[in-house]
Amino acid sequence: MALLEILEFPDPRLRTIAKPVETVDDSIRELIDNMFETMYAAPGIGLAATQVNVHRRIVVMDLSEDQSEPRVFINPEVTVLGDDEAPYDEGCLSVPGFYESVDRPTHIRVEALDRDGNPFTLEPDGLLAVCIQHELDHLNGKLFVDYLSQMKRQRIRKKLEKLHRARA
Ligand SMILES: [Zn+2]
Repeated sequence: MALLEILEFPDPRLRTIAKPVETVDDSIRELIDNMFETMYAAPGIGLAATQVNVHRRIVVMDLSEDQSEPRVFINPEVTVLGDDEAPYDEGCLSVPGFYESVDRPTHIRVEALDRDGNPFTLEPDGLLAVCIQHELDHLNGKLFVDYLSQMKRQRIRKKLEKLHRARA
């Protein structure tokens, strides 16, 4: 397995729209394993392939405390089931160090393929529903900072750019 580099806002590659996975084969499963290793090492609870500069529709996630509930979503599709929305303080491995409240639909249905290419359907709630929508946004080139005011987004952008310059 290998650790992958995580792109950070405002890297323009994070704006790429990911393409569907046509065949779930061993190369996809290897990518998934590397994404899990990268996510656990970060540490984080969700990672989209977009964030490691692979523009295919793949998300990995684990909301457990002890890395015991790995979840894979390939070609995920989300349907919003009601008008209810709730705020959650979201963070992101591509926007390190920042947490901001984002409103999202609370009732959704997710259809996706698992790591063997088998379709499954889920009606998640709570953090899982938030996280899936956050990760699906990544596959569409969208970040949680896009939901914030332009002023807040610019402030985060400037701080991260300063950090990236210091690191270079
Ligand atoms: Zn994220």
